Amino acid sequence: MRLSRYFLPVLKETPAEAQIVSHRLMLRAGMIKQASAGIYSWLPLGFKVLRRIEQIVHEEQQRAGHIPMLMPTLQSADLWRESGRYDDYGQEMLRITDRHGRDMLYGPTNEELITDIFRSNVASYKDLPLTLYHIQWKFRDEVRPRFGVMRGREFLMKDGYNFDLTKDDALHAYNRHLVSYLRSYERMGLQAIPMRADGGPIGGDYTHEFLVLAETGESEVFYDSEITDLKFGDREIDYDDVAQCQSVLEEFTSRYARTDETHDEAVFAEVPEARRRSARGIEVGQIFYFGTKYSEAMGATVIDAEQNQVPVHMGSHGIGVSRLLGAIIEASHDDKGIIWPEGVTPFHCGIVNLKQGDEAADAACDALYGALTAAGLEPLYDDRKERAGGKFATMDLIGLPWRITVGPRGLKNGVVELTSRKTGESEELTPEAAVAKVVARYAAL
Ligand code: ATP
Ligand code: MG
Repeated sequence: MRLSRYFLPVLKETPAEAQIVSHRLMLRAGMIKQASAGIYSWLPLGFKVLRRIEQIVHEEQQRAGHIPMLMPTLQSADLWRESGRYDDYGQEMLRITDRHGRDMLYGPTNEELITDIFRSNVASYKDLPLTLYHIQWKFRDEVRPRFGVMRGREFLMKDGYNFDLTKDDALHAYNRHLVSYLRSYERMGLQAIPMRADGGPIGGDYTHEFLVLAETGESEVFYDSEITDLKFGDREIDYDDVAQCQSVLEEFTSRYARTDETHDEAVFAEVPEARRRSARGIEVGQIFYFGTKYSEAMGATVIDAEQNQVPVHMGSHGIGVSRLLGAIIEASHDDKGIIWPEGVTPFHCGIVNLKQGDEAADAACDALYGALTAAGLEPLYDDRKERAGGKFATMDLIGLPWRITVGPRGLKNGVVELTSRKTGESEELTPEAAVAKVVARYAAL
C-alpha cells in the first residue's frame, strides 16, 4: 500500500477523552473512531489488525478440530425465554421490537441459538463430539463502556460451543480450548495466563479466564510468579490425544493463579512469599464447562448406545477479539507509539523515502516494494512529499515492526537502513539483504 493512496487519519493531538494508552494510541493512529458510547467504526488500519487477530483465531480453532459457522447478531426472544435468561440477563441486553411487535434482542452471547441448532439437527451420540464456533459482533449495554475497544458495548467475540456425550468428553473439549487459546495468544505476541475464575450462578470449578497482565487491567489477580515462565512455544500437539491435552492443562493451571472472585488468602499463603504477586490483568478470554444446564432446559438430547435419551454436556468458550487490540497495545508500546508484534501487524514493513521525487530514491523504494510484495508480504510505503521527521513519527506511531529507510546518500553507497521498531536498532544493508532479513523474520513465525 502506498500511503498517499491510503486512508490513515492520524491525530496530532492526544485525545482528551482517552484515559488509557491503548485507547489513546488507537485514536491517534487512526485505527478507530467512536460512533457512539462504546461503539466504534474500524478505520482501515484498525480493521486490518482486527482481521489478523481473527485469522489467528480461525486457524487455531480449526487446528483443534472446531468448526466455523456464523450465527446472526439479532435473535428472537423466544429462545431466551426457554432457557430462562430473557428475564435473568438484565439491563445489559439490548431488547428490540420488530414491526410485528415481536421481541428480539441483539445477542450478548449465543448459547441459546447454538443449542437450538443442535437440537434440531443432532439426534444420536454417533454425531458427537461436536464443537462449533463463530466470530461475530455482540452487544452488551455495559453500564460503563470505557477504555475504547476494551470495554465496548458492541464488540467482536469468538464464541465456541462443545457438545459431548459425557462429562469426560466435555472436559477434553475444555482442555482442547485451553491449549488452542494458549497457542492463539502466543501467536499474537501475548502472554495470557489462565486463571481460575468464578463460574457465576452456574458454579463449578471448570472455568478459567485468560489474563494479560497490565496496570490498566480491570481485574485484580493473584498468582505465583513461576507461572510467568511458562511458554507453550512451538511444541507439537495432537488435539485428539486426551492425555496430552490434559497434561498441558495441568502444567498451566497447577500453580496459584486466580482472579479476585476466587482468590483465597489461605491457599495463596502456601505459595513461597517471594513468588506471591498481586497485579492487574485484562481478561482476553474465558473457557467454561457448564454440563447440561442449557441442554436440559432446551431439550438438547441424543440417543446413547443403550438407546436412552440423554442431555448433552456442553461448554462455551470465548475470546475477546476486539478487546485484544487494546490488550496487545497495552502490553507493547513506548512513548512514540504502538509496537506491533509481528504476528498481528497491519503491514509487515514500512518503507520511508527520505527524498520523494529523487529518481534514484523513488526507484529503490519501488524495487523494495515489489520485492517485499513478491515475497508475499504487505509493505506500507510512505511516498508522501513530507519531511523525514514527520514520516518517522507516523511510522513509529503506527508501530510496524520493521522500517526500511531509503535516501540518496545511502543509495550512493548501495545501502538502505533497516530499523527494528522494538529495539530501535538500525543497520545498513543492501536493499536485497534488507528484504531477505524481513522475509526471513516472517517466514519464521
Ligand atoms: P467481563 O468480565 O470483562 O465483563 P465477561 O466475563 O462478561 O467479561 P465473557 O462472556 O466471558 O465476558 O466473554 C468472552 C470474552 O469477551 C471476554 O473474555 C472478553 O475478552 C470479551 N468481552 C466481554 N465483554 C466485553 C466488552 N464489553 N467489550 C469488549 N470485549 C468484551
Ligand atoms: Mg468472562
